[in-house]
Amino acid sequence: MNPAGTHYQNESITFATMHGKELLARQSFADVLGASVIAPPELDTDVFGTFTGEVPRAAGPRGTALAKARRGMELGNTRLGLASEGTFSTGFGTIVENTEVLVFVDDILQLELVEGSIELSPLPAARPIAHLDDALNFATAVGFPEQWIILQTTHNGTTTSYKNIGDPDSLRMIGEKVFTNEYESVIISPDYRAHHCPSRAASIRALCERMARRLATECPSCSTPGFGHVDVEYGVPCENCGIATNMIAADIHECGKCAYHQRVMRSVKRASPQWCNDCNP
Ligand SMILES: [Zn+2]
Ligand SMILES: [Zn+2]
Repeated sequence: MNPAGTHYQNESITFATMHGKELLARQSFADVLGASVIAPPELDTDVFGTFTGEVPRAAGPRGTALAKARRGMELGNTRLGLASEGTFSTGFGTIVENTEVLVFVDDILQLELVEGSIELSPLPAARPIAHLDDALNFATAVGFPEQWIILQTTHNGTTTSYKNIGDPDSLRMIGEKVFTNEYESVIISPDYRAHHCPSRAASIRALCERMARRLATECPSCSTPGFGHVDVEYGVPCENCGIATNMIAADIHECGKCAYHQRVMRSVKRASPQWCNDCNP
């Protein structure tokens, strides 16, 4: 795509981050839009909630990301902003899901756009450990030292997090320290902060690419940038009994400014009975 002539060419966009996320957006925003992405000076994103739970997140991922983006825009002194929020949750068994939300705010056009993804994380969930060897094994399994880790101890109801464990010496030093003191529990987990978590950085980078392409797409009705995919519609009819199944039938594309939207039907017209609540309950 040629960035010449896109709406955001030569614009500066603040990515509200203190974890290097601006580096994940820079390439696609330059290539697709001709825009530059900066990080604000001295932003403390921890006030919006932390992964390790010392500060709870009040507004939900989308609301938190929007609040962060606006704070970043104030500090960076731009009217365009980006922010992302991620959550890692364990569902069934040991599977960890990584949900990422990326928001873009344009204060001039009054636009708020959201892109999101849900992926299976290659990282294991946090777990209690009993020996230094457990910590070393966990670290090896997650791809340390590129992937950093966090140790959390609990003593008399007080939880302490040891972050910034990103090299073998700190791991051994902090590991020895937590196992020589008397804690009720020691929990190890991957560090999910983007600059210390290569798999999460890749998810955010992919969302940045999608957002950049979306910002290069104008609404066919009002020409506002940011026209794109916002939702899906389920209900392809079952080929056996004809009732609406859980298979996706259409994609919804929408403008962030006017009411114009498109419903794009997918090519599948009949669903296998495996998707049908009646035939395969
Ligand atoms: Zn059926
Ligand atoms: Zn429009």
